[in-house]
Amino acid sequence: MTARLLIIGPPGAGKGTQATQIATTFEIPAISTGDIFRANIKGQTELGKRVQQIIESGELVPDALTNEIVADRLQQDDAKNGFLLDGYPRTVDQVHALDAMLAPVNAKLDAVVLLEADTDEVVARLLNRAQLEGRADDTEEVIRHRQEVYAEQTAPLIHLFSERGILVAVDGLGTVEEVANRINTALEGVLS
Ligand code: ADP
Repeated sequence: MTARLLIIGPPGAGKGTQATQIATTFEIPAISTGDIFRANIKGQTELGKRVQQIIESGELVPDALTNEIVADRLQQDDAKNGFLLDGYPRTVDQVHALDAMLAPVNAKLDAVVLLEADTDEVVARLLNRAQLEGRADDTEEVIRHRQEVYAEQTAPLIHLFSERGILVAVDGLGTVEEVANRINTALEGVLS
């Protein structure tokens, strides 16, 4: 099956976990811009050096740079027949850039999974993850800032995708398995 999917939701909603699961279920690659940036920071590449400070302060990497990275990644063979983007697009500009990447190959997005969870819950989850994983952007102050950035820059995309008729909202509260079942049931409904 070809499926071109996005997963969006506030930081801490569990996008990464569910993205891996969706990718396996629908046999498509999961592409996480956050993971790409973190791998580059770890490997101390040029890109990593450019984005490290931005990410550690909870700001967004500039659109032009992020768009270029995604455009390159989507051109790889494994993404030709479908993908799940996790953490991208995050701004209206990035939505337009993604549209422009898909138009030349006559591809369109099939569904956008919105993983819903309220702010108190996601902040609690991220503080917990901070203790387990020690991610540099998981301090309380940066976590709060990332929630604000999400509310200002990314939340408006929900309306945009809803108007396109491709938004699938799923309650992100519950066990990983419960949420996975909700997502997969909802996606099977819209993709078939
Ligand atoms: P979370 O969803 O927990 O915030 P991510 O791994 O998706 O984590 O992103 C971590 C950080 O990487 C973001 O706070 C931002 O600095 C950067 N980043 C990831 N994706 C994008 C994007 N599409 N545009 C700009 N910055 C991004």
